[in-house]
Amino acid sequence: MSDQVKFVLDETHIPKTWYNLTADLPKPPPPVLHPGTKQPVGPADLEPLFPMELIMQEVTGERYIDIPQPIRDVYRMWRPSPLIRARRLEQKLGTPAKIYFKYEGVSPAGSHKPNTAVAQAWYNQQAGIKRLSTETGAGQWGSSLAFAGSLFGIDVTVFQVRVSYDQKPYRRALMETYGARCIASPSNETDSGRAILKQHPDSPGSLGIAISEAVEVAAKDPAVKYSLGSVLNHVLLHQTIVGQETIEQFAMAGDDPDIIIACAGGGSNFAGLAFPFLGLQLRGGRKRRIIAVEPAACPSLTRGKYAYDFGDTAHLTPLVKMHTLGSTFIPPGFHAGGLRYHGMSPLVSHAKELGLIEARAYHQTTCFEAGVEFARCEGIVPAPEANHAVRCAIDEALRCKKEGKAETIVFNLSGHGHFDMQAYINYFEGKLVDQNYDEKELAMALAGLPSVAA
Ligand SMILES: *Cc1c(COP(=O)(O)O)cnc(C)c1O
Repeated sequence: MSDQVKFVLDETHIPKTWYNLTADLPKPPPPVLHPGTKQPVGPADLEPLFPMELIMQEVTGERYIDIPQPIRDVYRMWRPSPLIRARRLEQKLGTPAKIYFKYEGVSPAGSHKPNTAVAQAWYNQQAGIKRLSTETGAGQWGSSLAFAGSLFGIDVTVFQVRVSYDQKPYRRALMETYGARCIASPSNETDSGRAILKQHPDSPGSLGIAISEAVEVAAKDPAVKYSLGSVLNHVLLHQTIVGQETIEQFAMAGDDPDIIIACAGGGSNFAGLAFPFLGLQLRGGRKRRIIAVEPAACPSLTRGKYAYDFGDTAHLTPLVKMHTLGSTFIPPGFHAGGLRYHGMSPLVSHAKELGLIEARAYHQTTCFEAGVEFARCEGIVPAPEANHAVRCAIDEALRCKKEGKAETIVFNLSGHGHFDMQAYINYFEGKLVDQNYDEKELAMALAGLPSVAA
């Protein structure tokens, strides 16, 4: 093995297709249901929200979907992203394990999210749409869609979760720099927002509430479509370029990962890295350990219930079967990461139920500790969400040390933390609190799950 640390492909290696895991699953995921009839929804039910091409990607059973050339042309700005071996971190830990990370922070918005934002903006432009409405938690999705909208002449309206709107003015400035309009959620601009404000005037907001507002705007105006940055099948599909590139880069490196790790909020960067590897396995390849890492304060995969639930708080979306903490669950306000969604991608949830992946939850301070250790070895300051993946990778490397095993680990460094330095300041000042989610509130939120016949 050479001592090469960086595995870089030129732009001719940008994947030409996205990979759809459903084509290889032993059992299809449960259907999406209409909230009124509780019958499976058809493409027409989703038309007020999404352009038909994206709806077809949501439901397709095809294994490979061609990536249109105009989208690949934009990907050329930063793709293929590098695969990097964290040799200094390995040495610092004194582990026989090899640690690699796929670095998605090289995109203009600083995370993996533009991979799907660009695709969604292009398909909407092709359908003649002039405005997109969306929500954002930490601000990364909003800035990614704002960036993509600016490339394709689409106006973008972003409902930003109140607590992050107040805590992250630089993210808002970035969205506005790309030309988006940013509104703190809950807002007075929608029925859903007004209803929440009436009950809780000081509501910190949540992704579930912001989704309701963004969906409502699109549902009421035929000229506006809605765009989601995670959770849905087509979003995960767009992210699979990450794993496909990684497979090729491991071939370059003459190595092969035993353990694949990514943080999971809605599940898109996790699926993006893991699903192409999982596809190899399902088509007869070797089995690898695949670990999704989530915050202990919002533990949908590890503690949530696998059940049909709404994607939003005001119950405007269809019902999807997923690991959920309940659509009215509001995670603790003072959490650094963007991993605060009450649910999990249905496809990731299904893979978990099939026993194809593992899940693990960590408190945030131990994740920041890992992120700081990583930064001091590798130079890159990870986004708070990505720190969950770093923590898990370090723990696995330390386990290898204890067991004397030279396993190969890869994790998705889903973004950099340059816009999240306030969270690092809070960490250094000892102000980050490790909150467990409130058992009583969770029980209440779960009691409110919609009833669906088995
Ligand atoms: C949004 C985001 C996440 C969480 O979203 P997923 O859909 O679970 O990937 C993780 N890391 C970064 C850097 C993000 O911006």
